Parts: sequence; C-alpha cells; structure tokens
Amino acid sequence: MSSIPENAPNHCPGPQSEEAGKVSACAGCPNQNVCASGPTGPDPAIAIIKEKLSNVKHKILILSGKGGVGKSTVTSLLGNALAASNPDINVGILDADICGPSQPRVLGVRGEQVHNSGSGWSPVYVKDNLSLMSIGFLLSSPDDAVIWRGPKKNGMIKQFLSEVDWGDLDYLLIDTPPGTSDEHLSAVQYLRGAGLRGAVVVSTPQEVALLDVRKEIQFCRKVGVPVLGLVENMALFVCPNCNSRSEIFPATTGGGAQLCEEMGVPLLGCLPLDPLLARCCDTGADFTQHAPNSPALAHLRSIVQKIIASCESSSGQETSS
Ligand code: ADP
Repeated sequence: MSSIPENAPNHCPGPQSEEAGKVSACAGCPNQNVCASGPTGPDPAIAIIKEKLSNVKHKILILSGKGGVGKSTVTSLLGNALAASNPDINVGILDADICGPSQPRVLGVRGEQVHNSGSGWSPVYVKDNLSLMSIGFLLSSPDDAVIWRGPKKNGMIKQFLSEVDWGDLDYLLIDTPPGTSDEHLSAVQYLRGAGLRGAVVVSTPQEVALLDVRKEIQFCRKVGVPVLGLVENMALFVCPNCNSRSEIFPATTGGGAQLCEEMGVPLLGCLPLDPLLARCCDTGADFTQHAPNSPALAHLRSIVQKIIASCESSSGQETSS
C-alpha cells in the first residue's frame, strides 16, 4: 500500500480540502506550501473506490456508540450467518477498527498473510464465501499497538477501500471503531460515492450504552446514511445449569425497543449473553457451526433475514453522492 506521510499534522484538513495548507493546523507542516498551491476538489480516491467496489452489491457499516458492547462479535456473527444462509452469497468483512482489530482472532485466521498482486490486496478467506481484510494482518505481531493520528488512520481507510481486491461480493460488512470519529467520516465520504446501503448499530440494553447510540443514529442522519436497524446484544442471560433468566445489563430506560420506537429505527433483534459465544470468539471457532441449538443462533438468523430483506427491498436506493 502507498505510504501515508508520517509528518502530517494532527488536524490536517486533507490535501484535497479547500482549506489545505491554510488553517492553523498547517502551520509548521513541511507540506504546507505544496498543499496550499495544489489543486483542490473532490478526492480522486472517491472515483477509484467507486470503481473498485463496483462489484460489491450491499455495503453496510457496523457501528456502536461504545466499545465493548459486542460490535466486532456481531459483525463476525453476521458475516458467518450471511455466508451460511446461502452458499451462493459472497460476504466480505473489512475490519476498519484500526486501533483494535479483532476480526482475525474472532474469525480464527490470526497469523494469516495477505498477498499483494497486480489487482490489489487479496483478502484472507475464512470460508469459500467469507473473506476478511484487517489491519491485524499487516502488524508484525498481534500484540503491536497501532498508535496513529487522524490523517494516517484516514489514509489507511482510504487504502483499504481502494486497494483490496474483493472480487464479486453480495455483502461487505465494515467493522468500524466505536463512536463517531474521523474514521467514520472518511468511510462515509468514500463509500457514499460507491453507494452505501446503510448502517447496523450494536448496543447493550443499558442506558449508558444507549445514550451513545442516540448520538450514533444522529450521526447517520446528519451524513445521510440510512439506519438499517439496531441489534441489542447481551440482552438476557439464560443460566446453562438452572435455566433461570437474568438481565445482566438491565434495560432501565426501556432498552433497545424503547429507543427504536423513540428514534424511528427498526429493532433488528436481541442476542442473549452466551458463554459459549464468548468462548468461540476467543478461540476463533464459528459459533454458527458449534452451537446449532443455541437460542442465540435462532435470534441471529432472524436478524440476518431482516438485513437481507431490508437490503433487497432498498436495492437501487443506496446513499451515493
Ligand atoms: P466491541 O467490538 O463492541 O468492542 P467485542 O465484540 O470485542 O466488543 O465484545 C467484547 C467482549 O464481549 C468479547 O470478549 C466478546 O467475546 C464478548 N461478547 C460479545 N457479545 C457477547 C454475547 N452475546 N455473549 C457472550 N459474550 C459476548
């Protein structure tokens, strides 16, 4: 992948911005003069990404307000379940959670190598019809920390979107970092040109998590990304020994259902807390194969069917610039 300048300032407006080289953040930057005199206008990468992703039918962002609510877990479950729903469906997962890439571990492909060829970076195949690209594959050790400032993170997102050779995909799930940061704005900016089907938001039922979901939904509305719906994760715990049910994260304010009603977004479904699911994530085992009788799996399948229906019904209406 082409290199991102190490020396870009923290709040770099981007070389294509009208403000390039002209704002206070540019003061002292070695590229200031080049940027100030260079051409501005739409980032040429938008057209490149549009072309690169032209064979990807449904591009979906997976968002969460907070970390730790299960966004990466849900992304991997959706990927596995979509791929299992029909062998003719091709699914890709882009792990754009640059500071905490967990998909290689969760999908059991840690340590795999990605290869670069004339047509771009080849993703790692988890199954015949499920592929993955993650920054985790590019780190020299899984314990390496990625400490990057805004422009470098945005550059990596741009490269991931423009240089991975996905082939023909029906679904591309993009696992984003928690919250709404520069990476989200970059991803939306680049994907809008290529057509973005919408976003799936993941939360626990706790008010402290839902508070941030409201911000996430407002963000989607501001940037014109349709919200396909909310997945409420860790909704209930059923004890495997005594079958008693407990709310580990109580829905004191009505949980996801109430929030969805308030904000006019669909509730795609609720996934229970399941110790086997947590174990599968740690060992990289495919939960959809390991726990065929789990209630969580029935909920997952129903969520996937709703996402498929929503994508198919809105085909041709994706957000594009
Ligand atoms: P995020 O991506 O939102 O930071 P993760 O997907 O990494 O969160 O999940 C955080 C932790 O919770 C992980 O250890 C994961 O295995 C566990 N986890 C997530 N969802 C469930 C669930 N429904 N049941 C059991 N464990 C879960």
